[in-house]
Amino acid sequence: MEIILAENYGFCYGVKRAVEMADEAANSEGKSYTLGPIIHNPQVVGRLESKGVSPIQEVADIDEGTMIIRSHGVGPAIYAEAEEKGLHILDATCPHVKKAQQDAKSVIEDGMTLVILGEKNHPEVKSINLWANNRGIIIEDEESAEKLQIVEKMGVVVQTTFSQFKFNSIIEILEKKSKNLKIFKTICNATQERQNSAVDLARNVDLMIVIGGKNSGNTNRLAEVCRDVGCTTYHIETSTELQLEWFNRVQTVGVTAGASTPDWIIKEVIETMKDFAELLAAEGQEEFKKGNVVEGTVVQVEDER
Ligand code: SF4
Repeated sequence: MEIILAENYGFCYGVKRAVEMADEAANSEGKSYTLGPIIHNPQVVGRLESKGVSPIQEVADIDEGTMIIRSHGVGPAIYAEAEEKGLHILDATCPHVKKAQQDAKSVIEDGMTLVILGEKNHPEVKSINLWANNRGIIIEDEESAEKLQIVEKMGVVVQTTFSQFKFNSIIEILEKKSKNLKIFKTICNATQERQNSAVDLARNVDLMIVIGGKNSGNTNRLAEVCRDVGCTTYHIETSTELQLEWFNRVQTVGVTAGASTPDWIIKEVIETMKDFAELLAAEGQEEFKKGNVVEGTVVQVEDER
């Protein structure tokens, strides 16, 4: 059985940075908190909690210590509230999100109508809009773009994980809604790269294993795109969910992971699959012998615990 890792998988730059900042906070003196779960991965959140970094719901929940702002970012009022309380702020807002927040702010300051392309209830979109005094019109799809009124000047900011395809088709509609259209293309490539690599791999293997939080939007989308190309796909959070029968007569297994899945979980999954391959070989599926991880793709997997 051959185990092949996608070309792009796992932690993106912004998530890696946020988790590293939370780890640093855990190792320093004093109590630390994250405003909401640091990332959409229960294992990482649980590991940080065991090291003394607990998630809180709002600034009012604490009176002292370090407060870590997660990669999705927050609005300016949260900074003001934390400063007023004398909290130490560790700002893990991803620089790509920060740019989108500042672009949204500048659109309003320049007297343009602000349109934000993204999911209404996503914390990143909410944070972008808060930097524009909540004056942005949030557009999720082509249908709502069509309903927009014609305006003199329009500035467009985009959720970093927005689909490139959808972006193109919505911009075509918005071009008819304003003669002065200024587009800030704040899409980050990390999500798209992971999806493209997953699709490439899913087209060429018997089975896909997608690793990541069940509450992680980008991991769910990875599983979706793999299924869409007709590949049998299992979405798991940890190695304990793997089942031996999934691998019966399977010769090639593709592996990918969401942007919030740490390397140590990916490594555990691969090790368990290698054990399964041994078991299947022992049961008589001789042709599947040992779990053979394709050279050069697993070397980056490091134990981070
Ligand atoms: Fe930053 Fe992109 Fe990762 Fe979002 S997906 S946290 S924008 S690097």
